[in-house]
Amino acid sequence: MEFPPIGWTNKSVCLDHIEDEYLRARLAPDVAEHVCSFCPRTSTNGAAAIAVNLEHLAAVVAEVAVRFYEDAVNAPFMDGEISVQDFDTLEVVYNMLDDSLPASLLDSIVKSVAELIHEPQIWIRLDNVSYVEFGWSSFADTVKHTSRLVLAPRSGHAQEPTPPEDLYTFLTALSGIVNETTGLVQVLEAGARIYRARIERDAGALEREVQEDPAKKLGPAPQGSAAAGRMNAQGISLFYAAMEEETACAEVVAHSAYNEAVVGEFTVQQPLRIFDLTRVPVRPSIFDESAGPIYPFIAFFDLFRDAITQPVILDGKHPVDYAPTQVVTEFLRWGTQAKLDGIAWESRVVPDGKNIVLFYGPDTPMRSTKEPDKEESELWRLTFGAAAEPIFIIDPSSIRRYEAERTVSVRKSRW
Ligand SMILES: [Zn+2]
Repeated sequence: MEFPPIGWTNKSVCLDHIEDEYLRARLAPDVAEHVCSFCPRTSTNGAAAIAVNLEHLAAVVAEVAVRFYEDAVNAPFMDGEISVQDFDTLEVVYNMLDDSLPASLLDSIVKSVAELIHEPQIWIRLDNVSYVEFGWSSFADTVKHTSRLVLAPRSGHAQEPTPPEDLYTFLTALSGIVNETTGLVQVLEAGARIYRARIERDAGALEREVQEDPAKKLGPAPQGSAAAGRMNAQGISLFYAAMEEETACAEVVAHSAYNEAVVGEFTVQQPLRIFDLTRVPVRPSIFDESAGPIYPFIAFFDLFRDAITQPVILDGKHPVDYAPTQVVTEFLRWGTQAKLDGIAWESRVVPDGKNIVLFYGPDTPMRSTKEPDKEESELWRLTFGAAAEPIFIIDPSSIRRYEAERTVSVRKSRW
């Protein structure tokens, strides 16, 4: 679709009112006005201009809007009516500028901008955008309160899609950006070191136990004792680790009532494909051209990242709150075209620390560098087959204990 033509106006707006940095950068070269139509500010003729004519703002809004919407003349008709949700220009402009303007000026600027865009009069969402509009909050609501099932849509069915079908459509669209070309998948090469920590009341006893059988005792929890986490449902064991020793310890301490953690170093034996949330831009702007068509997905993963970094609630009474992030994690584990091995995200506990969850449970071939005795070798052969190569190797000399120092600060709650 071509960019909609823009009408004429003598209204202008201060560049300072534009809060979105990408939009501001787009408009900066066109600042040529000395008055603002939305606040009393003026600059005298000799001084630098402060405002931009609204035609420029409308042109950028229209250009970005056609990445998300199209003219309703293209809409599918059913019984003489448009069979999808439609929007007038005011709603479209509002959706475009919602996050970019101060609340006090939003309505008046949106109205003035919408008046400059005469066509199309009625808009519909572009096909590939409509299900993405599902967004994090609808997704989370559906998963928490309606269904956790993900089902491919039934073909030839005229009925409205069911919630499990909506989830499928949404998640498969999402998986389209989880690949190397978007820069969101990074390869953890063979030889990379990762750290996994455990915590118990008696850290000394735990350390002795881990020294005995490092791969087993420091590897993923046995199926039966895997507690629910932000990324795994109860009973599904995953390999939670960190890229740094301190991060691994600090994270387990932060999620526990005890203070001393035992940590060990695992060396990765084969390249692992990791969905790296640290590469997802924070609060992406729709005016950031580099995000372009993948903007809605990026926005979703930004909120997904927020959700997984929320502290685990230690009273164990809120398992339903974990359901949305658990479903996304399971989809990333089983539902992407090219297999993913894990997800990385930044630590909230250690600045610059990086967490990693690997989709490997307690049945993963992993062993210690310690020479296995006869019994161990036999067990390995029976479990994994004689030719099996370990995916992770732990060095027993890397096992150590870390003690946490906790600080608590309080301030009066706001009310
Ligand atoms: Zn102003």
